[in-house]
Amino acid sequence: MYVESMSVVMMKYRVAACDGFLILMGLDGESTLSGNQVGELKEVMVITTAQSEIARLEQELAKAREKLATVEEQLTERPDFGLGQGGTMLYEWEMNLAERDRLREKIASLEDALERAREGRYGICEVCGQPIDPERLKILPDTKLCAKCAAARR
Ligand SMILES: [Zn+2]
Repeated sequence: MYVESMSVVMMKYRVAACDGFLILMGLDGESTLSGNQVGELKEVMVITTAQSEIARLEQELAKAREKLATVEEQLTERPDFGLGQGGTMLYEWEMNLAERDRLREKIASLEDALERAREGRYGICEVCGQPIDPERLKILPDTKLCAKCAAARR
């Protein structure tokens, strides 16, 4: 029920974005396919793409949350700043603090990406509106920019 209604939403939003991809695969050029068949193929592809994106993002999110829990646990033991090993321990403490902040940002960013995926807006560049290269999304699952727009922003 939930998945089904979400898929319908995704279809509406993602078909346009998938057009270039479908044309590349030659599906739109197949004269043996009726308009309906092309439409069905698009729907299947859109649902499959969106669901695998969501699954991958959920996995990334679970990993990041797990890491954060570990780091936070390490941070509950405050080092003794005054004596002996204090220097090393202080260094580790600070490393963990930085890691905790980094993970919190990552989690927020992944949650945002997951929301976009559920609404069918995932993988579309925020600036130019073009689909983001899947290879880029593999490395940076929570990116909102295509490689070109990200380079231009730097
Ligand atoms: Zn772009």
